[in-house]
Amino acid sequence: MIIVLKKDVSPEEMRKLVADIESVGNIKANTIIGEQSNVIGLVGDTTRLNEDDIAANDIVESVKRVQEPYKMANRKFHPEDTVIQVPSANGSVTIGGGAFQIIAGPCSVESEEQITEIAKSVKKSGAKLLRGGAFKPRTSPYAFQGLHDEGIRLLLKAKKETGLPIVTEIMSAAHLPLFEDVDVIQVGARNMQNFELLKELGAVQKPILLKRGLANTLEELLMSAEYIMAAGNPNVILCERGIRTFETATRNTLDISAIPMLKKASHLPVIVDPSHACGIASMVEPMAKAAAAVRADGLIIEVHNNPQKALCDGKQSITPEAFDKLVKTIRPFAELNGKTL
Ligand code: PEP
Ligand code: MN
Repeated sequence: MIIVLKKDVSPEEMRKLVADIESVGNIKANTIIGEQSNVIGLVGDTTRLNEDDIAANDIVESVKRVQEPYKMANRKFHPEDTVIQVPSANGSVTIGGGAFQIIAGPCSVESEEQITEIAKSVKKSGAKLLRGGAFKPRTSPYAFQGLHDEGIRLLLKAKKETGLPIVTEIMSAAHLPLFEDVDVIQVGARNMQNFELLKELGAVQKPILLKRGLANTLEELLMSAEYIMAAGNPNVILCERGIRTFETATRNTLDISAIPMLKKASHLPVIVDPSHACGIASMVEPMAKAAAAVRADGLIIEVHNNPQKALCDGKQSITPEAFDKLVKTIRPFAELNGKTL
């Protein structure tokens, strides 16, 4: 961090600021006295410093952060890829590293028949994890809200029948006891900055699938991952799911550049949700290919056996047949980056 001081600052004022900053611990301040201005350069762990607090100081002209504010999620301090093992009926499913994994299933769990039928077919096509929402974050309070605990019970039934580990969204830490047998806990886009929820998930050792917020920067996404990690859970999977832009032709805009950017900035696995990103079933396959080509570690895809009748997100849900075709055509794109599907 570089702090430029205002002109005519007294040595005493400067010493006091340096002492204040260094009292945070693990920081060394180097002062450069110039003819035009005085500068303080900070080296060490600056994650606990807030630029705005320093800038609020009367003697400070400007503050510039030169190091990322996240540490545990930062590739600089952890050069190797994080590889997450999700326990499954026959061993475990690897997320990250050289693996390319596909998570598939309906937007929401609707009935036992629906979830088990979809689970069986996506498994046959090559999905290694089953998704399904039991708690649904809906814009309207009158829209289908999910089957809640019954939804989780049905997911666990489908898991038992197929052996597929399950991924489902949590909306409140109060529901954590219901997630005991859930394999991957999803934090949805709308909760990416629910910091109290993130802290509670840090106390759990299960993998957390953290989706990027509708209007959040990549640094904010990584800071949210940092919340979970700093609270004790290193098993975070990042998910790019499209962001709000001025474009209205698609539900969101898939930020394809987010993938290589996140892979560079962080060691955490990055998966892509082309379903929510574009909101249109016919666009899911091309977006999935693009994601695989830019080194995504996997995909999360909405599949429904009757999209027209889906209780949520039918327009973006692909049929089991279309999913089967997608898995077959995605392989060469994943292999471009040396990943095995
Ligand atoms: C979902 O996965 O069904 C979902 C609600 O996703 P998002 O939080 O990305 O909108
Ligand atoms: Mn959905």
